[in-house]
Amino acid sequence: MQNTICKTIHQYSKEPVSSEDMHRLTEIARDCRSVKNNVYQRYGGIKSLSKLYPGYTIQNEMTECGLRTALGLPSVYFYLAVFEALGDIKAQWTRIKSDVLAAVGANDSLSPQEKHYLRFVIKVSGCFDNILNGKEAVIPDEMRDRYRGIVEDVNPETGDKVDCGKLNRYLCRQVRKRLQRLWTDKEDGFAIAERAYRYGINGEAHGIFISTKEKRKRIFIPLTDENAYKQQLYMKLKPEENRVEIDVPIEVRVKTHGDYVNEIGLSIGIMHLFTTDSGNVYGEHFGELHKEFAEYVSAADRTYRREKEHNAGRKKYIRQKARLDAKLEAYVNWQLNRMLAQEKPRTIYVPKLPPGSSDGYSPQIRYTANIWRRGFIRKRLEQKCRENSIALVTVAGKAISTECSRCGAAGVHHKGVFQCERCGYEADKKVNAAANAVRRGKTVL
Ligand SMILES: [Zn+2]
Repeated sequence: MQNTICKTIHQYSKEPVSSEDMHRLTEIARDCRSVKNNVYQRYGGIKSLSKLYPGYTIQNEMTECGLRTALGLPSVYFYLAVFEALGDIKAQWTRIKSDVLAAVGANDSLSPQEKHYLRFVIKVSGCFDNILNGKEAVIPDEMRDRYRGIVEDVNPETGDKVDCGKLNRYLCRQVRKRLQRLWTDKEDGFAIAERAYRYGINGEAHGIFISTKEKRKRIFIPLTDENAYKQQLYMKLKPEENRVEIDVPIEVRVKTHGDYVNEIGLSIGIMHLFTTDSGNVYGEHFGELHKEFAEYVSAADRTYRREKEHNAGRKKYIRQKARLDAKLEAYVNWQLNRMLAQEKPRTIYVPKLPPGSSDGYSPQIRYTANIWRRGFIRKRLEQKCRENSIALVTVAGKAISTECSRCGAAGVHHKGVFQCERCGYEADKKVNAAANAVRRGKTVL
């Protein structure tokens, strides 16, 4: 089996999307939302359980119900919305089953025989569906013997067999408690399959042609890159900003590097992006870029609050903010790649963040300025490690910057320098923290 991981990449509209085109896209998104809610409503309940697999019945019923014609939605969008909704319904059932299984396991008033029975009927679909619908459980032939063994099994303490009726009622209650009515208000995007789009050139521009609700009317959206894909995509609409974003799920092959053998500790910061335990720093300009971003955003916020009536500058603001955002994102990616190429790590140890904190930002920064995209750096690091077969080990983060990485004693840091009174060790605070990450990681393993 080839070792691959899924990754979502993004494409962006190059020029502002005209309001007519945005309207056409929003129409599709709104219709897809109606379709999904319709499917949730019809098939989200207990009665439809047996129809969910393999799902042809539902597809046929949805074709026949007339909704597609009523909406005038091209079938390619219609069926994707149906499948998306079915996926959500199935996901809810998977979640319910595993939650009920956990509840059964944790319920001390159930005997081992009773638990055994419940686990069996939850896992075997002919049992689960029918019991919930108050019908006789259907046991597949190859499971007959096992089933008989379970219902004939006698509790050694009481001498009783399991009471199937009572347990079935328990199961129904547990499921009903967890079954939610699915519904979505989201209409800011829709799934799109290859039949509904085509990459190509229009005049000078490279972009994507998209089918709309009007017959034979495709709209063209110029894109910032010239890549073309062939799979199902997701169109994200940003009508406020006159732009669209395309999510492209791709499979990437996991790379392994024979020469990546090092074990490094990493400290993530807002001024310097990454500091290693050996004192190497990557992304030393991150602080400046971030400051530029934060200052722009807070200045714009003040203006906005002051002159709420004149909203004219808002669109310009959103565009500029998106530009700064992209700049920071590109910088993080660049420095992350640089770090990996230079450090050649097999294992990276990073301190875990205490809940509610944000990637090593100091409290002052956390409370005074606008923080750029919480968690982005960490997510990128995780993704890059997966792509390159690097083990990323998270270690406890408590007191990681006040503990001496040489002798383990409690020390102090002042103006970014750590000092240990016991052994006299002195180092950059970030370097000391990164070294502690390695130390903690290795002691645990
Ligand atoms: Zn020390």
